[in-house]
Amino acid sequence: MENKLFYQDAYKQSFTGQVVRQEQDEAGNWYLILQQTAFYPTGGGQPYDLGTIGGKEVVNVEEFDGEIRHYLESPIEELGKEVFGEIDWQRRFDHMQQHSGQHILSAAFDYLFQYKTVSFHLGNEFLTIDIETESLTEQEAKRVEELANKIILENRPIEIKWVTEDELSQYPLRKETKVKEDIRLVIIPDFDYNGCGGTHPKATGEVQAIKILDWERQKKNIRVQFVCGNRVLVALHQKQKVLLELTKLLNTPEKDMGQAVIRLLENGKLVEKSFEQARESLLHYEAKELLENSKTGNEETIVTSIFQNRTIQELQKLARYVTVEDAKSMVFLVSKNEDRLQLVCARGTARLENMKNLIANALRLINGKGGGNDSFAQGGGASLITGKEMIQHLVEIIK
Ligand SMILES: [Zn+2]
Repeated sequence: MENKLFYQDAYKQSFTGQVVRQEQDEAGNWYLILQQTAFYPTGGGQPYDLGTIGGKEVVNVEEFDGEIRHYLESPIEELGKEVFGEIDWQRRFDHMQQHSGQHILSAAFDYLFQYKTVSFHLGNEFLTIDIETESLTEQEAKRVEELANKIILENRPIEIKWVTEDELSQYPLRKETKVKEDIRLVIIPDFDYNGCGGTHPKATGEVQAIKILDWERQKKNIRVQFVCGNRVLVALHQKQKVLLELTKLLNTPEKDMGQAVIRLLENGKLVEKSFEQARESLLHYEAKELLENSKTGNEETIVTSIFQNRTIQELQKLARYVTVEDAKSMVFLVSKNEDRLQLVCARGTARLENMKNLIANALRLINGKGGGNDSFAQGGGASLITGKEMIQHLVEIIK
């Protein structure tokens, strides 16, 4: 334990350490072992420290077989007897704030509602704990948050005690400890007694603040998302920026934002609906115009048209409108969409030609596929011939 300087002094930011050895692990990554170190290795839910050793960036710190491996960006070339190490204090202090904040929040859940914490994750942006309950009300979350922040405001000491297994019974532990020897307790007097190997500040005031952000069901537990310390300010800053942008965009004060968004969404649906109606009537109008322009005096009109990039659905609607309008008409519509040719063949109820057979014949020319019935058929294939050639072909077969 005496080689773990972070246990003697969690505030130690730099140190000199005797070199034990430098070597590669199985994956070929270089690491350095020192006689003593202030670098905290990944453990107990707390991420590893970053910083520099001998001027090289530390990229990872892991404990392996009782030794702390400092993984460096590249090996130190001229390795002396001692090296100078400096930890990234901003990152470490953030971890201390978050980790102690988690102890306080977990203890508050336990104290007020006996919800036990079963797991803890300290992420880059926020933290989560899983608590043993299937539901959590807003009122409960609010009370827990208030108690946690009260403990911070009271600036209670955070004490560290090394105890033996026998001595454990003197303390009202929040949960059973995993280790059996060299047991380290992190204690907030009259509030929380907890076995933990992490780094903590000396008093709760340094945790600064705790804010619960959200929670959700996670199997049989509730996963609570929260931030502590300076991350509360960072989160507030981010949220404020987004909200200010939205208040400007929606021209609405913050408290009415929800209503404004609902109105916006409803309005969007109405616009979409009326757009759809307008498009339908436009298609209807287009169908009438096609029919009008195709009339030759002959009673049995054949409507033909060639388009670019129109969907098969649009062609189908157009063809339907034409044949409904004039039961004696027949309609061939073709659209060239990139390297594909799509077509619709339809006839009114007063005619007898078989559209399914007609289109099957035409699709052979373009290696196409399609289907339909006697009066209405559609299909598509490769654009091996032009739209005009396709129309000519259809008209010839019919004649
Ligand atoms: Zn802990």
